[in-house]
Amino acid sequence: MNTLLPTAAVGSLPKPSWLAEPEKLWSPWALDADALVEGKQDALRAAVHEQRRRGIDIISDGEQTRQHFVTTFIEHLRGVDFENRETVRIRDRYDASVPTVVGAVERVKPVFVQDAAFLRQQTDQPIKWALPGPMTMIDTLADRYYNSREKLAWEFAGILNQEAKELEAAGVDIIQFDEPAFNVFFDEVRDWGMAALERAVEGLRAETAVHICYGYGIKANTDWKATLGPEWRQYEESFPLLQQSSIDIVSLESHNSRIPIEVIELIRGKKVMLGAVDVASHDIERPEEVAHTLRRALEFVDADKLIASSNCGMAPLPRDVALAKLSALSAGAALLRQELTGALV
Ligand SMILES: [Zn+2]
Repeated sequence: MNTLLPTAAVGSLPKPSWLAEPEKLWSPWALDADALVEGKQDALRAAVHEQRRRGIDIISDGEQTRQHFVTTFIEHLRGVDFENRETVRIRDRYDASVPTVVGAVERVKPVFVQDAAFLRQQTDQPIKWALPGPMTMIDTLADRYYNSREKLAWEFAGILNQEAKELEAAGVDIIQFDEPAFNVFFDEVRDWGMAALERAVEGLRAETAVHICYGYGIKANTDWKATLGPEWRQYEESFPLLQQSSIDIVSLESHNSRIPIEVIELIRGKKVMLGAVDVASHDIERPEEVAHTLRRALEFVDADKLIASSNCGMAPLPRDVALAKLSALSAGAALLRQELTGALV
């Protein structure tokens, strides 16, 4: 990629209200059968159009074809019963109704590969596709078969690797694994979480990214953040391990957060996808604020390794707010880019 400070949405964008009820996680589809297939594709087209129009450099699908970033993947696998739902505690924070593992898990057919190929047709710009990470997957379901988080994570890692290789073949440039669970279960990250993530990216030629965050801007997460004290040092647990890993890009929150910016030093050498717009507030950032957040990171990451993004997915936000935040993101990145390249002239 030639652009300095490229911009990217980290994950989900709000869906059109004709496709799913807005401002809601796990929002049910408003269409079915062929109309749903067509509706998802139209929503994906609109998401690509808005990203390009608003100056986003690395294009993603905005997760328009999935109900949820984890469960939609899980529901496509054999061994998972999605009608037999159970309520479990997610990320040690909030309860949700999730599918149940009832037998050996297996990917009998590709999950997102067709959608990714469709995204590839829509643009010549680099594209990024997000998959759930193995640890976050096991933390978003009920298991009545393996009775071991580690064993199930290892199975999922193999399945994710199959899917990732086919996404790569479909032309995806960056494959991202979402691992918010890495900010919660530190012992497990050390014991087997990192190893499972490495298994998921094994043999990939596409760039690989991991997104670790404090979650969507929903009440359960903002309440949790309020208990974390004046400095959020959760990244200090996983970053030294990621620095030693084969993952190319690390995506983290920054804007409006209490994360000490120097944690980025712990992933020195990696590309950094920095959250420079907040997803927990409806206020639209001013470009100067976005540029300020990005500028602070430059002490710890080379400018040619910095990607500007949102703190997390934006699915729960009103659509106009999320789109305005994309514009703010690229305007802020452009300001800083001008500053950096202007200095060379
Ligand atoms: Zn996130």
